[in-house]
Amino acid sequence: MKTFFLEASLSGLCKWLRFLGYKAIIATGKLTKEEILKNQDKFFLITSPKTAEILDKLQIDYLLLPRDSLRTQLLILLGKLNLKPELSLDLCTLCGTKLIPIKKEAFKERIPPKVWEKYSEFNYCPKCDKLYWEGDHIKRLKRRFKKLISPFF
Ligand SMILES: [Zn+2]
Repeated sequence: MKTFFLEASLSGLCKWLRFLGYKAIIATGKLTKEEILKNQDKFFLITSPKTAEILDKLQIDYLLLPRDSLRTQLLILLGKLNLKPELSLDLCTLCGTKLIPIKKEAFKERIPPKVWEKYSEFNYCPKCDKLYWEGDHIKRLKRRFKKLISPFF
């Protein structure tokens, strides 16, 4: 699967794509033709029909989403592109870098004692210098995802 390139307004969707394990980059400003050309190897997710016209002309892959709720956009995305509605959580949610599984012993001084006792699987983002573990926020995330996509998936 290609890397996704999302219009700036789709930051919520970008986060979920990363939770699903897809590489996704969010545009920082308005999508100019120059920026589009720079990223033409990616799959564009947009809400602007005007941008769609440009992408059509340049024969770049894209999906035009309605300016609607995150739920609607996510459901359309999953359905149209036939993506697996399963969280994989192996990409950093901040920057999208692939997380590296680490031995917790190597990070002992950075892990709260309670977390240390409870969990054995830890991942690390080298770019953000951030540690991840399968904690309660992951459980919450999974519940939120289920709610977002039900009853359609
Ligand atoms: Zn990161």
